[in-house]
Amino acid sequence: DDTYKSYTERNPKSLALYNKTLHFMPGANTRTVLHSQPFPLTFACGELCKLIDVDGHEYLDLLGEYSAGIYGHSNSKIKTAITEALNNGWNFGGKNQYEAQLAQTIVERFSYSMDMVRFCNSGTEANMMAIGAAINFTGKKKILAFVHGYHGGTISFHEASPKYNMNAAYDFIVADTYNDAEATSATISALPSSSLAAIIVEPMQVSGGCIIGDPNFLQFLRDLATKEKALLIFDEVMTSRLDYGGLQVKYGIKPDITTLGKWAGGGMSFGAFGGRQDVMEMFDPRTNRLTHSGTFNNNVMTMAAGIAGCGIMDRETVEKLNKTGDDLRGRITESIKKGLLLSEGTAPKMTTRGLGSLFGIYFNGSEKDELHALFFHHLLDQGIYIASRGFIALNIEIKEEHFSPLLKAIDGFIKKHGVLL
Ligand code: PLP
Repeated sequence: DDTYKSYTERNPKSLALYNKTLHFMPGANTRTVLHSQPFPLTFACGELCKLIDVDGHEYLDLLGEYSAGIYGHSNSKIKTAITEALNNGWNFGGKNQYEAQLAQTIVERFSYSMDMVRFCNSGTEANMMAIGAAINFTGKKKILAFVHGYHGGTISFHEASPKYNMNAAYDFIVADTYNDAEATSATISALPSSSLAAIIVEPMQVSGGCIIGDPNFLQFLRDLATKEKALLIFDEVMTSRLDYGGLQVKYGIKPDITTLGKWAGGGMSFGAFGGRQDVMEMFDPRTNRLTHSGTFNNNVMTMAAGIAGCGIMDRETVEKLNKTGDDLRGRITESIKKGLLLSEGTAPKMTTRGLGSLFGIYFNGSEKDELHALFFHHLLDQGIYIASRGFIALNIEIKEEHFSPLLKAIDGFIKKHGVLL
């Protein structure tokens, strides 16, 4: 509680805004994930890899807007692209030239499995559209998803049977068998034949705790979908940054539909779904089979920012960023191993998991919630911002010189709370 006491004293403006907003928003919140005890910080501005809160404190931003902020803050190329677009007006109620260019950019980049694409406003929407497409394409209803999969605000499976959820009204089978081909096979065999419309899966369950997909399991899902005449949907909203054409390229597995979001729209509100031509052609308005509308699907700011953003994230930049992530994760793992002085065969309660620029520092065991909160606040004290659940998404402004404050903070945390660990 001492941590919270000094935190509260240090952040009077964030606290005042929080207290005021409590009257107007439940829990002063409009994104559940941003709630943390005793109250979350409110930020005023961001510049490169720094965030500045309303009380004037500066933080090294290692959260990177849950991966959408891959460019760091106020990237000048993106700012210029958006400003130029805005100078010509927005909300045309018609097509604009940017959408054509972004469509070509995205299809060429993700050409490993994507023939055509459509845009929407969020990753959630992209997944809803992909599932809707699969249901209409196959004429079937059941959707296989996995526990710990997160596909958006209305499609989230962090627990097998949560008490409350917002999951959209699809006929989901939620299997607790990620990376387990045999058990997944058994689940599907128990279904009435010809009922599976789609499998939706993240090649790495990122929000679920950076659980890396086993390539053999993902290939098994590919084969299963083909056998069942169902569509395989890869949710690459997060993982598309892990290789130039998405994690599917690294794994050598072609989904029927890929969903995108986050960074690929230049950090603006963005979602996209694309894939096989025969599937995507269902949306061709000339044949009028399946409609997909959305006032902001082609909004000028996102389209312009997306073109600029995809240009920044060329092959070399993608590789470099992922190497930075692998290096940093390696250094953190070393620090943890050294600091915890584990005896042979003991599982550490503090661990890292992830790939390239997406990873997390996680705690296991019965005190894990308490440890996550302690760690989050310990890092805030040292001027470092990550997700309260330990997640880190690097941006391209993070350089090796930023490693040492984090590593020092981790060493300090282990020294202080080593007893709990
Ligand atoms: N899919 C994955 C894998 C995600 O991580 C997220 C968001 O965290 C989404 C979908 C939803 O995207 P959005 O928040 O843009 O709706």
